[in-house]
This record gives sequence, structure tokens and C-alpha cells, in this order.
Amino acid sequence: MYQLPKLDFSYHALEPYIDEATMRIHHSKHHQAYVDNLNRALQEQSDLEKLRLQDLLQEVGKAIKGEDSLIKEDYLSAVRNNGGGHANHKFFWKILSERPQNPISDAPKLYKAVEDEFGGFSEFRDRFIETGLKRFGSGWVWLVVNKQKKLEIYSTPNQDSPLFWGDQPILAVDVWEHAYYLKYQNRRGEYLSVVFDNLLNWSLAEKLFLKVL
Ligand code: MN
Repeated sequence: MYQLPKLDFSYHALEPYIDEATMRIHHSKHHQAYVDNLNRALQEQSDLEKLRLQDLLQEVGKAIKGEDSLIKEDYLSAVRNNGGGHANHKFFWKILSERPQNPISDAPKLYKAVEDEFGGFSEFRDRFIETGLKRFGSGWVWLVVNKQKKLEIYSTPNQDSPLFWGDQPILAVDVWEHAYYLKYQNRRGEYLSVVFDNLLNWSLAEKLFLKVL
């Protein structure tokens, strides 16, 4: 049985950048629903219950690519949406941080690597925000280290997760409307800039980056 993880901070801790009501609903209602629906899907196919979340999601990736997978076709969309939803939110709550903790000066190696990869830090920031802005409908924007050990920015639709493909998430922002609509309404770009500039947990990003190199 999967469980809703506790947050490392209170629902109001990210004010004024993300408001308390959004955080409360996002964590206690939206994320809880992914957890409940994932558990329900796994009851239907109980041989999957023993897998670690990461391994379960790799099985989703195989099934999407049409390879042999432990996940039966009947349950694929439930496990894809809710397993991805659980993993993505679990990651998101960790990669957000209260100011002034975990500033970008805590991520010197990652900073240098994104400068090298994207032609400068502000180019990296622009590309990350643009990628989230351009996602049509609901989804996520990610900085990952891919299987070739290269930094890459991409967006996933819905609750698709980089863990489907064995990529390591380094940074993420949820661009579903439920993540920002109460405060930012249609201004997704403003929400993305505010989160990028004020709320990312750079010391965790640095740790994840160094771990996969
Ligand atoms: Mn969400």
C-alpha cells in the first residue's frame, strides 16, 4: 500500500509564491487521490504490489513502448496515471523548499553543468520556463539526467514520469492548472518564473545530480 507522504513544510510555508489553499488541496486532495487510485489498481493486479515504485514505473515504460511488461493491459492506464501521479508529486514536494533555505549557491556543480549544457544559466532558466509554458493541457516540466548521463529539459503530458524511461529527475514543476490556478489563474508563465526563482531546493538538486554522474 502506498501512502501520502508528509510534507517537510507547512501548507503556508511557500507563501506568497504558492498560497496555502493551493498547497492544501494539491497535497491532501489531488495527491491523495493518485495514491488511493494507485492502491486500488494494484489490488486488481496484486503481483505488482511487491515492486518498488521505481520498478513499477519502469514496467509502465516498457508497456508504453510495446515491450514485455508485468502490467496487464487492463490496468496500464490506471497505473500509468496514478503511479506517475504519485511519483511526480512525491518528487515535487521534495524539490520545493522554503526561502531562504537551499539557495542556488548550494548547487555549484549543477550550476556549472547547466551553464555548459545550455549556454548559460539564464538560457537554461528561459528554456525550462518556456518548456513548461508550451505544454498543451496538463503536465510537467523536468530537468533530468537521461540514460546517456546528459542533462536534458523536457515536458511530459498528464502524469507521465521520467522514471518510465529510467531518467533521473533533478528539477520539476507541476504545470497542471490545479497547481497554480487559484493564485495565478491563466498566468502559467508567471507561476513558473516565481517557482523557479524562489522555491527550488537547489541542495537536493545538487545531491541528485552528483549521485547519477
Ligand atoms: Mn499536481
